[in-house]
Amino acid sequence: MNNQFTRRHFIQSAAASSAALAWLSARTGPNVFAADAAKPAILGGKPAHTGGWPKWPEWRQEWEAQVLDVLRSGHWCRAGGGGQVPEFEAAWAKLLGAKRALGTASGTTALITSLYVAGVDAGDEVICSPYTFSASYNAILIQKALPVFADTDPETLTMCPKSIESRITERTKAILPVHIYGIPCYMDEINAIAKKHKLAVVEDACQAWLAEYKGRKCGTLGDLGCFSFQNSKHIPSGEGGAVTGMSDELLDRCHSYHNCGRSVGSFKGHGCFARGTNYRMQHFQAVILLQQIEKLVKETAHRQANADYLIAGLNQIGGLVPVRLPENSRAVWHLFPMRYDAAQFNGLSRGKFMQALGKEGVPSSGGYGEQYNDGMLDEAINSTGYKRLWSADRLKAYRESFKDLKGNAQVCSTTVAIGQNMLLADRSAMDQILDAIRKIKAHSATLAKKA
Ligand SMILES: *Cc1c(COP(=O)(O)O)cnc(C)c1O
Repeated sequence: MNNQFTRRHFIQSAAASSAALAWLSARTGPNVFAADAAKPAILGGKPAHTGGWPKWPEWRQEWEAQVLDVLRSGHWCRAGGGGQVPEFEAAWAKLLGAKRALGTASGTTALITSLYVAGVDAGDEVICSPYTFSASYNAILIQKALPVFADTDPETLTMCPKSIESRITERTKAILPVHIYGIPCYMDEINAIAKKHKLAVVEDACQAWLAEYKGRKCGTLGDLGCFSFQNSKHIPSGEGGAVTGMSDELLDRCHSYHNCGRSVGSFKGHGCFARGTNYRMQHFQAVILLQQIEKLVKETAHRQANADYLIAGLNQIGGLVPVRLPENSRAVWHLFPMRYDAAQFNGLSRGKFMQALGKEGVPSSGGYGEQYNDGMLDEAINSTGYKRLWSADRLKAYRESFKDLKGNAQVCSTTVAIGQNMLLADRSAMDQILDAIRKIKAHSATLAKKA
C-alpha cells in the first residue's frame, strides 16, 4: 500500500516535472536550454556519476568449500582422469550446445592447440582479424605461420568478409575470425569462403562467452572455437581456456596435443607417436569455473539489457554510434564500444571527449590500436626462421599491406569503449552515462576551443 502510493506519487511528480521542462524549453527555445543544461564536470559542473563501478573479478564465500575439497584431495592434475576438469568440460559444452569442450591452461594455448590441429604448419598463412588482443597474432606466429590481416568493417568491428578472398594464397590454411568484445562475426559468409577454398575456421571466442549468432553460440560455428578464462574475462579463473567443437575426431586430436601427444579416443598410437605439449587445465581452475556458470548466465543477461538501453539512448543523442550486429545475433560486450563522430561534437577530439567523460566519473578506453605497426610483426619477419620460409619479396609486400587496412585504422582512431563491469551496474548508472555524454555534447563547442 505504502509502496504503491510512493510509486504513484513518483510517476505523478515525474510527469509534472517533464511537463514543466517541456514548457520551459518551448518558451526559451532549444539553444538556451542547451546553454542552461548542467555543466560538464570538466568545466566545473557536478560529475554525472559518483561512487565507482562494480569491481572485477568477484568471489563468493560459498565457493570456498569446493576449492578446499580440491586442495585436500591432493588430486590437482587432470592426468589420471576424474575430477573437476572433465566436469567443467561437460558443463561448458552443454552450455554452448557444443559436442565437446577441452579445458586448457589459457586462451592462448587453446588457440595454439586449435591452429595446430587445424593443420597450420611452418610456412603457412592464416587470415586473421587485425582488431584483437595480440594473443590472436601470437598463436599464429608460434606455428611459424604468417598472420595475414583481413580488414575490419568499421560498422561491426569484426573481420570484413569481403576483404578475405583477395588475401588467400596457395599457402593459406585457415581463417581466424575474432568475435571481438563479444560481437559475433559474420560467420555464414566466412564459413562459405572457407568451404570454397578448403580452409579451416578457428574462432577466437576468447571474449565471446555465450554470444549468439543466428541462434547458435559462438565457439560452435567454425571447426574449433577458443575461449579464455583469464582474470579479466567474464568467467575468470586466474588463467584458463577451452577449445570447443562439434567433432569428436578434432577434439581427440586437441586433447592429445595438449596432453604431451598421448593417445586419446580415436587418436591412437604407441609410445611417443605424436607431437604434443602440456597445456592442461588444473582442477583448481575448473572448480572455480564450475561455480561461476550460473553467475555468467545471469550477468550476461544483465549486461545485454543495459547495453540495449544504452544503444537506444545513444541513438537519440547522436554522435556516438553503436556497432551493427549480424541479424538474429546477441553480443556479450566484454567492452561496450561506440564509434565517436567528432563532427557531431563540434570537432572535439576523441582524446578530449574521453578526458571529459572521465571527469564525469565514466572511465573509457580507445580500444585496440594499430598493433601491426608496433614492431611485433617486424621482429617476426626479420627472424631467421621467417626469412627461410618466405621470399624477401613476399615479406616486403606483406609488411606494406598493413597500409591497406583502412577500415581497421578508422576503427582504431574512432572507438570509445566502456568496460564490461560498468554494464553490471544498475539502470540509473546507465542514465548517468547517457547524461554525461549529453552534457559534453551540449558544451562541445566550448570544450573543443579549450586547450
Ligand atoms: C584474452 C584473449 C586471448 C588470450 O587469452 P589468455 O587466456 O589471456 O591467454 C586471446 N584472444 C582474445 C581476443 C582475448 O581477449
